[in-house]
Amino acid sequence: MPELPEVETIRQDLRHKILNKKIVQVKVYKKTSVGGQSTKFIQALTGNSFRDIDRRGKLMIFRLKHGAQSLLVHLKMTGQLIYRRLVAGSRLYGGDHRLVAGSRLYGGDEREKKGGVEIVAGGHKLSESDIECLPNKHTRIAFAFQDGGELFFNDLRLFGYMKLATAQDVERALKKFGPEPIETPPPARNASRSDSGGSPSPLRRGGKSRPPSIAMEGAGGGFTFAYFSLLFKKRQNTNLKALLLNQELIAGLGNIYVDEVCFAAGVRPNRRVGAVTKLEQKKLFLAIPKILRAALKHRGTTFRNFLDSSGKKGNYTDFLNVYDRDGEKCKKCEEIIKKIKIAGRGTHFCPRCQR
Ligand SMILES: [Zn+2]
Repeated sequence: MPELPEVETIRQDLRHKILNKKIVQVKVYKKTSVGGQSTKFIQALTGNSFRDIDRRGKLMIFRLKHGAQSLLVHLKMTGQLIYRRLVAGSRLYGGDHRLVAGSRLYGGDEREKKGGVEIVAGGHKLSESDIECLPNKHTRIAFAFQDGGELFFNDLRLFGYMKLATAQDVERALKKFGPEPIETPPPARNASRSDSGGSPSPLRRGGKSRPPSIAMEGAGGGFTFAYFSLLFKKRQNTNLKALLLNQELIAGLGNIYVDEVCFAAGVRPNRRVGAVTKLEQKKLFLAIPKILRAALKHRGTTFRNFLDSSGKKGNYTDFLNVYDRDGEKCKKCEEIIKKIKIAGRGTHFCPRCQR
């Protein structure tokens, strides 16, 4: 499941592509993915545009330009968001809905830079075939924009959604999240204005790539050590993994980064919360923003982004110390990384580095 760095990465990328672009067509392939009301969904979205995309934890809020509603967007376990735009003038643009299979349209080679296809993609285990053939059998919702861009929401297991929400619905949804451990760029009103209606040239976009994160001193609003430490008092009898995964307590941490945070702090994720010392709490508290920022800088772990102009493929996988490394040697002490099940989740740790 994508976590904070992955969702934030796709949010930032999509903002550059779809904000203020008129939606000319909406297709709902699976009613349940829009909460069951596809007619209402299509009516609210067609002719409208997204004025901004916000995020809280792993939930994205697509703000609509017209009408009071927003879209709540959650990728859950297997959701993918794939944007593509066949650049006008490209010979590849034949009006059909298939990219040329096997062609290296993305991945940073010359053809991509010269034109052809702009792609921004993120989500569950993206492979080249996910992007080459769209819509595919897992496509649940598709949007076509006036400038030729298209956005596909794919979801294998159907836990994800794009739901219309009133202001109260949004408010209610946001209340369920604990504080964010890091600051991410707030909606940049100026940037969105200059993005809107301007030239869709990929070259222009490439020239002004922004840093993925504005790391503010200290932590995000409300995520203080006093707050963090209090959680250990209130939830003494749960285990550390369950505590850190709880979105109502801390927004955005998931399986990957909880394991990495515990490794960085030298604490086993199956420890009873009440037995975690103050010093260990401090180490955990400092590790959380540090690891999230590093992951964000590398554009996350599960997302692969194929950018139009820079061609950079972000991936934090090489930096993982324990997650998905069971049976391999610890990078620090060479002990074999173990995998156990805690809080219903596969959990990785080093038996020597973590106590
Ligand atoms: Zn170790």
